[in-house]
Amino acid sequence: MTRVFGDPETFVDDALEGFARAHENLVRRVDGGIVRARPLAGGKVAVIVGGGSGHYPAFAGLVGPGLAAGAVCGNIFSSPSTRQAVRVARAVDAGGGILFSYGNYAGDVIHFGAAERELREAGVDVRTVLVTDDVASAPADALIARRGIAGDLCVFRIAGAAAEEGADLDEVERIAIHANSRTRSLGVAFSGCTLPGAQSPLFIVPDGMMSVGLGIHGEPGVRDVPLQSAPELAGTLLEPLLAERPEGAEARAVLIVNGLGTVKYEELFVLYRHLTDILAAEGIEVVSPLCGELVTSLDMGGVSVTLMWVDDELERLWNAPASTPAFARGDIALEPGVQAPTDDPVPPAELPSDPVHGDASPASREAAARGAQLFRAVRAAIAAHADELGDLDALAGDGDHGVGMLRGIDAAAEAALATDPSLGVGPQLVRAGAAWSDRAGGTSGALWGAALEAMGDTLSRGEPDATALAEAIHAGRTRIEQLGGAVLGDKTLVDALIPFDDEFRRRIDLGAGIPDAMRDAAAAAAHAAEATAALTPRKGRARPLAERSVGHPDPGAVSFAIIVSAAAHDTRLTHTYDPGSASAAKVAPIGQIEAEEKR
Ligand code: ADP
Ligand code: MG
Repeated sequence: MTRVFGDPETFVDDALEGFARAHENLVRRVDGGIVRARPLAGGKVAVIVGGGSGHYPAFAGLVGPGLAAGAVCGNIFSSPSTRQAVRVARAVDAGGGILFSYGNYAGDVIHFGAAERELREAGVDVRTVLVTDDVASAPADALIARRGIAGDLCVFRIAGAAAEEGADLDEVERIAIHANSRTRSLGVAFSGCTLPGAQSPLFIVPDGMMSVGLGIHGEPGVRDVPLQSAPELAGTLLEPLLAERPEGAEARAVLIVNGLGTVKYEELFVLYRHLTDILAAEGIEVVSPLCGELVTSLDMGGVSVTLMWVDDELERLWNAPASTPAFARGDIALEPGVQAPTDDPVPPAELPSDPVHGDASPASREAAARGAQLFRAVRAAIAAHADELGDLDALAGDGDHGVGMLRGIDAAAEAALATDPSLGVGPQLVRAGAAWSDRAGGTSGALWGAALEAMGDTLSRGEPDATALAEAIHAGRTRIEQLGGAVLGDKTLVDALIPFDDEFRRRIDLGAGIPDAMRDAAAAAAHAAEATAALTPRKGRARPLAERSVGHPDPGAVSFAIIVSAAAHDTRLTHTYDPGSASAAKVAPIGQIEAEEKR
């Protein structure tokens, strides 16, 4: 339970501000995260880490000489946004290129991936190394599908130490990949964690049981077993790690015993003792171990064990000097010639600039006026279902789907309302999408944001009639499919999106108007969303806990159905007649709509 908080909405912001003040000699805040107080020396590689918040000391506590140049800090358990990653990268770029490193989660991959593409287009050399240490999250023959947990620290540290020594970007990338390939973790949860302001934990471990294979975002473990004594637990956690000793690895490993939030240090030491007994019996030498809270999950009761199988190079880098709020080694010589700390504010989010192709047509303006109203209606629908969406997501994911969607739609509605309707509906949607993605982060934030932007781009190219709307919806679908890589049956929002798009197109082709096509397409989406209950997740955070999700619909598919149903309802209200042409439709006054909604 989080007891110390003001407004739960600003919890992350408040914590980052306090953190930056407490460590002002080492770090400073920028828009999007935390960077070193002293900029990198010119020409050095900037290692940028990041992810959701709630994992302290990951990720902000790992910023400093010998480790990260900056940390991109998302909302609690939600990936940061593309814009945040770009801003942090811009703030630390010293001309030597950028290495992004983070745990392998869909939302992070999408947002950091988009940031990487954008920076590359601007001429910055950027590489990415994903951390995939969690052996419980996918089988050994599917390393690429594994998620990152406490092994984050190993990979970040090795990359940061190499960058500190002056290695170039190729070299920093190489050694980070090597470190990841040598790192394995497994954790166990005794109790779930509670989001700030929430009344109940994201999951409950039954009395007398423990949940093996925990995630670090409040995802429960992959199997519940009876509690074990410390020597037994040490064996349970080590056995799968030892079974995966990488080919060619020497019998030497960094051992990390990590507390997830509310396990006493003394308990960690008890576990440590038994772990080292087993390792000694196996003839494995423990190198420069760590035992403490390193990658946490709010107030989760749980521990994880990490082994990084080292060679001389990894061992040297692991022990090289470092000075960060949470990780320090030896004395780090400050570079001569580093620039003075700067208080220059980082420029705020670059929202898409105004269109240059002149004023929008009357039909497009009218659609924009209607669009702003539609965002309000959709927002109300999501707000009404936010708790239910969070609960669905907590079954096998991290429980943030309700708050994430609400945060996104709030930002999108705000941006839509702030856009001058005379610019037309295309630019309005582009701005709404950018705002959604930026404020919400997470997988759904990335996908919805990108889809709205794609729709806006399409609608910017001509009159927003029924055919153009069908094309725009299809463009949004295509963007989501490309970004997320999910296909029908993977149990994601794509399962509701595809029937929606297909039905909308089919009805428009048969000559239906927008309201009728919307109604039928929304019904198809609602039906498909319900049907996801029978599916097993193959993408996203829910995948490692697939069977827990069976019997319950996918949260993203459900929120998709809620949104398009609200949009269909709103469209029916705002189109006073239906000749199928947006330019001929009239916008009902808002007072009238509210009166109709009450009835
Ligand atoms: P996060 O998983 O980052 O916590 P949310 O909880 O907001 O993000 O969204 C979860 C939803 O995102 C899932 O229910 C699913 O519908 C959708 N999703 C996850 N991964 C993908 C993907 N690769 N492609 C499409 N949709 C996805
Ligand atoms: Mg989630």
